[in-house]
Amino acid sequence: MKKNVAVVGYGGQGGWHANQILASDVVSLAGVYDINPAKNELAVSRGIKAYGSLEEILQDKTVDIVVVATPNDSHKSISIASMEAGKHVICEKPVMLTVAELDEVLAVSRKTGMLFTVHQNRRWDVDFLAMKSIISEGKLGKVICVESRVHGSRGIPSDWRGQKEYGGGMIYDWGIHLIDQMVQLLPGEKLKKVYCTEQHTTNFEVDDGFKLQLIYESGTTAHIEIGTLNFIAMPRFYLQSMKGSALITDWRNKAQVVYCKHWNEKEVLPVQTAAGITKTMAPRDEITVDTYEIDIPKSDVHDFYRNFVKAVDGIEPQLVTHEESRLVLSIVEAAFKSIAQGQVIDFE
Ligand code: NAD
Repeated sequence: MKKNVAVVGYGGQGGWHANQILASDVVSLAGVYDINPAKNELAVSRGIKAYGSLEEILQDKTVDIVVVATPNDSHKSISIASMEAGKHVICEKPVMLTVAELDEVLAVSRKTGMLFTVHQNRRWDVDFLAMKSIISEGKLGKVICVESRVHGSRGIPSDWRGQKEYGGGMIYDWGIHLIDQMVQLLPGEKLKKVYCTEQHTTNFEVDDGFKLQLIYESGTTAHIEIGTLNFIAMPRFYLQSMKGSALITDWRNKAQVVYCKHWNEKEVLPVQTAAGITKTMAPRDEITVDTYEIDIPKSDVHDFYRNFVKAVDGIEPQLVTHEESRLVLSIVEAAFKSIAQGQVIDFE
């Protein structure tokens, strides 16, 4: 039988959840609740039940799962109240604002026996899945560096995302997705050092962009970058490995791979530059490298709900684990510390 879900917060993302749930094969929509009456009226106009308060949802015995889709600063109180009322919780990202908050929430999950997870839906993005399959296949050899970027040009949204008290800023907003993806891309790598710089291009209260460097014990590095004032976007992913490189220019594009099949070259055709010729930086020919594209992977973001429902029924472990959420949030904390101190942080 389908699990019944109530969505708290019927804004952009709450609306997305409601639509996903309405189309789902494993969950049904009990209704929504938003603190703003206009949003509840909007829900009703769309034929969706609107609860009068969070309390009303918590007292509704037919509700199995609460989705928390409110601004970031309210995730903790709504998650805790929901689990204490006997509801499982799917919390939007960022899971919490600090590791200490997350530990508090996880303690309530353990105490009540209610499951808690975070909606890391960008694990189903096909650009990420393509990069994941290239790295995990291992053909390109040891990873030297992975670069992951998302660039826009409209500044940070003018809503609560621009305000500190609501947990605004791009590190919490897009950063948390890209950090979570990087943890998935480099499993088994032990993080040693973190360095981060932030940008304030259109907003001075919170970061509206950042550049984050992760340095692992093995020597592998990762670069994560969000920009909101970039009129030309840098590629979405770039991979530098010992036996090749891969590039994903855009979310919709196929990954381009260059695989080095022979290191030694008989002849190198130099490139003419204005100041002279270079062989060092000249591209390779097809005798030593294979150049190919990989197909866009298949993906179904509904699998997030399918997995969570199975986890609630004790059939499958939940895909987004507490250890992963804790690691991702610890990296966020180290990034903020690095920004505040202007230096590289040892990661513990
Ligand atoms: P939004 O401003 O569009 O919507 C938030 C809604 O929550 C508003 O309608 C607001 O009135 C309501 N609200 C605020 N406090 C409330 C409370 N205490 N109780 C009930 N309702 C309350 O914001 P959004 O873009 O929908 O973001 C909401 C959450 O979803 C954030 O945590 C954000 O990070 C996350 N999000 C996730 C993704 C993703 O891809 N996973 C995408 C967008 C947003």
